[in-house]
Amino acid sequence: MTQELQSLRCRYCSAPLEAPAAGVETVVCRSCGTAQKLLDARQYLEELKLSVSEWLRKAVPVGMDLSHSANVDPVARYGVFVNNVKPRLDTEFTEYRFNMASLLSQNLTTFPYILNDQIHPSNDPKEVFSFQAKVQSVYPLAVNPEAKKAVDDANAVAVSYAYLLNNAKLLHEPKGDRFALMADNFSSAAKAMEAANEMYPGLVERLQANALSATASDAFVNGKLPESHRNSSRALALYETAGGLAASSMTSTVMSQAIRDERLIADSIMSLTQASTGDSMVDAKLVTQVQAIVGVLQSFPQVYSNPTRVQGIISRLQTTIAARKAMATMRVLPGSGNLLYPFWVIDLKYSFSTGALWTKKGKEVSELLLVAADAFAGGAWNSPGAVSDVFRARAKGGVLDGLTGKETSISGGGLSTLLAQATNSHLSMPAIPALSSENDAAEMATSYLNTTINSDAKVRDKLRLSAPRVVELAYVPTQYDGQRFSFPQLGAMAPRETGNATVLAGLSV
Ligand SMILES: [Zn+2]
Repeated sequence: MTQELQSLRCRYCSAPLEAPAAGVETVVCRSCGTAQKLLDARQYLEELKLSVSEWLRKAVPVGMDLSHSANVDPVARYGVFVNNVKPRLDTEFTEYRFNMASLLSQNLTTFPYILNDQIHPSNDPKEVFSFQAKVQSVYPLAVNPEAKKAVDDANAVAVSYAYLLNNAKLLHEPKGDRFALMADNFSSAAKAMEAANEMYPGLVERLQANALSATASDAFVNGKLPESHRNSSRALALYETAGGLAASSMTSTVMSQAIRDERLIADSIMSLTQASTGDSMVDAKLVTQVQAIVGVLQSFPQVYSNPTRVQGIISRLQTTIAARKAMATMRVLPGSGNLLYPFWVIDLKYSFSTGALWTKKGKEVSELLLVAADAFAGGAWNSPGAVSDVFRARAKGGVLDGLTGKETSISGGGLSTLLAQATNSHLSMPAIPALSSENDAAEMATSYLNTTINSDAKVRDKLRLSAPRVVELAYVPTQYDGQRFSFPQLGAMAPRETGNATVLAGLSV
């Protein structure tokens, strides 16, 4: 007889369902998270059984009845397997194996509250779980070790691929319990892959690490920070093993970058939770703050889809929180106010190709610029308006008009005096976390310079700029009046755009 499908199946994704307790009429799929009537799940199982037996009937030679296949002699069964069944399975198996390899080359996890919409798999979990039901049905025909191995491999790939496909959907669904579902799917996928471990060395460990990372995220969003910390720490150790195994294997090396990205996400969660003292009030506040920060990032895929960036933001957030608790120091510029705003300090070196402006031709001068680190909040990404307008600060007419040749910078030394008074100190008032990176700061400065220089032919011909260099992140006190920020100490060097003040003030730690 062919192997009967044992458990109920989810009518939405075809994953096996756990049998509900007696008297319960509704069952929730632990893989896709959909609730359904028990009656519907039973009906779907009958449909699936029918389609599997239909498929098998078409696969085997006419006249051969496999409904009592134990009575068919092994040699005949083997013949049917090799000549009729396996070629049909192989067509689908090859496609799924190929598509799974492509899925495995991508980051399959996400940070708490971040919806990851970067993954677009080629298959639907329902078709793959249904394929797996077919694979299961041919086990009685696999009579020798070689045939058994072929079926085992197809089963392992189908099961783990199908569970991962459900996760690919959950990554971009704002379901509250999605991390708990993802953790279950990763565990089930890891368990299935154990039977075909040699196919992708390191994959079992990677999937186990992803399960721990998802559990850590689930604990985080539920305010259980110590539990989140334990799970993310354990995930990191497993990513190490997975990365090592994947790097030394031909088939698994495609996973290497994805494992590094997944590791960064677990690392972010671990570093965020390590300061937790288990005080539920303090922990709940951090969770709310992280949720608000991610809410701002969620409009910018270039940020939230990049684990390196997310990790950078989280690690700076952690330093800011520590500096607020007087456990770390950060650069702070002088000034009074009720809030601290983050700026990137940029050192821009330039020279003039003519001696008419500077006494010594080709003399290199240095200009310090500020880039508002959160200018994009509520506005456009990496706007040049986030940069101190050094040219405007001086020029009344053309950009270079009014220079006498004795200056040491275009702006007349605008920010250097103020920046020289910056101190390393604890943060004595609420501080807004920096949500952009050093690279963003350099990009904004470059884009500002290009815009300015290209607008004036005289400048374009005479000015020689080197690439902007990011020096540090510095906090500047600002007076927030409930609507906007003001930076009187920066004078004309205050960037025009600093982001939506109401949104940003709400993120302060
Ligand atoms: Zn389901």
